[in-house]
Amino acid sequence: MEAPYSEVVILTVEHEQDINEDIAQRLAEAKAMFAPKCEECLTLATQVATIAARQGNTAAEAEARLWWGRSLLVMMGASAALPILRRALRLALEVENRRLLADVHLSLAQCYTGSGNNASAIQNWLKSLELALDINAVDLYAEIYLGLGNLYMLHEDLHTAFHYLAIAADFAAAQRDRDLRAKSNIHLASALIKLERYSLAENVLHCAEAELILPLRRDWQAEIYNYLGAIHMRQNHVAAAQDYLKRAYAINLDAGFLWGQTINLLGLGQLARRQDDDTSAEQYLLRATEVVAKFDSPNLVQQIHLELSQLYEARGDFVRAMMHHVGYHEHYMLMMKSDLSAKLNSLASRRLAAAEIRLKLLSSELELTQLRQQTSERASRMKQLEAAAYRDALTGIFNRRALDERLPLEVQEAHEQGYPLSVAVIDFDHFKRVNDTFSHLIGDKVLQTGVARIQETLREGDLLYRYGGEEFVLVLPHTNAIGALHVAERVRARVAGHDWSTIVAGLSVTISVGMALLGPDEQVEDIVGRADAALYQAKQGGRNRIFMQSEEA
Ligand code: GH3
Ligand code: MG
Ligand code: MG
Repeated sequence: MEAPYSEVVILTVEHEQDINEDIAQRLAEAKAMFAPKCEECLTLATQVATIAARQGNTAAEAEARLWWGRSLLVMMGASAALPILRRALRLALEVENRRLLADVHLSLAQCYTGSGNNASAIQNWLKSLELALDINAVDLYAEIYLGLGNLYMLHEDLHTAFHYLAIAADFAAAQRDRDLRAKSNIHLASALIKLERYSLAENVLHCAEAELILPLRRDWQAEIYNYLGAIHMRQNHVAAAQDYLKRAYAINLDAGFLWGQTINLLGLGQLARRQDDDTSAEQYLLRATEVVAKFDSPNLVQQIHLELSQLYEARGDFVRAMMHHVGYHEHYMLMMKSDLSAKLNSLASRRLAAAEIRLKLLSSELELTQLRQQTSERASRMKQLEAAAYRDALTGIFNRRALDERLPLEVQEAHEQGYPLSVAVIDFDHFKRVNDTFSHLIGDKVLQTGVARIQETLREGDLLYRYGGEEFVLVLPHTNAIGALHVAERVRARVAGHDWSTIVAGLSVTISVGMALLGPDEQVEDIVGRADAALYQAKQGGRNRIFMQSEEA
């Protein structure tokens, strides 16, 4: 079960004698076939490995298994390649061939990256690097740093990724291998795009283009055009973006590269959506759906579903949006399920369970969405208008209108349920002076900052309203006189203690607070009136202080 190809090989080796004569030459041929024709490399490498094993030529078997594993990785993926490479590792250790060990660790790292086992991937990249340094295998450095960089890219740690990819490009530049130079520059550009360094990314891509070995590397040509398209799309150069994406698509279509076609169609769809050309966007995305169905990429299927669901949602077609939303999550689950190593990971299996629950909820929501569709648009617009009408534009907190509607309800509830309720009126001291000494603009900033400081001291349920000008009302339900005094003192101290000189040198700001506790038969006007009177006392008393009105006053 370890070697899927070994049974076949034993039957097809007809001229064992010839092969015995020159194992080394056969190995060299296998290596040479790797880039242009991977299947050939696989056939040759498996033959050599079988013969070498029979002869007890451990060194040759190890090297043959390296190329056998590398071909499998390209053709069939990580799970097929891993057992072959692990065996190669044991054999290379046996013969103490450090160069071979470095190569095997490098390929193992690529496998683990592919299967999402990051810890093992990093371990193997580092092991390979250590060996390469040891024997001064400069040609390996670029590959190793490229691998590390890509690993960090996958995890969106862009700065670390960029660091490694830049080193890789440096090492590659010093090599004669044009393919390696092109490859490392393409990867570097993808990091630069994510870092939004567009003009640099563009330069790097043009360097990569100059190194391309054509027509062998038409896939990379298309990839370069695709990235150039992405760069222009992010900068809103619509025509140029479209041009590059279409060129990439033409190459991918001609060469039959399905993955590339899907990526390009997805990009063209996104581009059309940005131009509000929903019809074209839908066409591109539906075509992407058709292409992606011909090969296996849950990741891309998921992205397409996401785009389509957003498209339909923006169009108000909630039913179709929901269907694609469900598709998005379905494919998320498929991805999780298909990843064997993820399944073994307990965190991943918990995520899987959560995704399943999510999917069930979404399916039942689908029916509700149909009902909601007619009313939702009007309702949401009303809600927006209403929300704006109750907010103060300068500070973002509730306004006078909100207070007028809300406070009577609070007062009524406090009476009915018999809990204490306190009200504080807050006024900025000598605010005219702030405006006059500095400016109205600074005055505004003081109000915004002051409100933010006050909000920080509040509990949930304590509500701050802008009463008008530089006056604010704080409503404290479930708060008796002592509690209210504590809150007021906290608020006063927070404002007075703030470092106002960060707004402008020489600025200092204080507030005065007047307070009242709701009396047994009091209405809104009564309690606010008493708090106002208390504020007057606090101002008289010298400002930057709090004063509480007793009920009887
Ligand atoms: P006191 O300590 O007695 O409260 O003195 P004061 O100067 O704060 O009192 P007064 O109520 O006379 O002045 C308030 C000033 O606040 C007047 C007004 O121009 C200013 N003001 C009201 N609303 C705003 C605003 O939104 N932005 C700015 N910058 N100033 C405002
Ligand atoms: Mg004032
Ligand atoms: Mg005032």
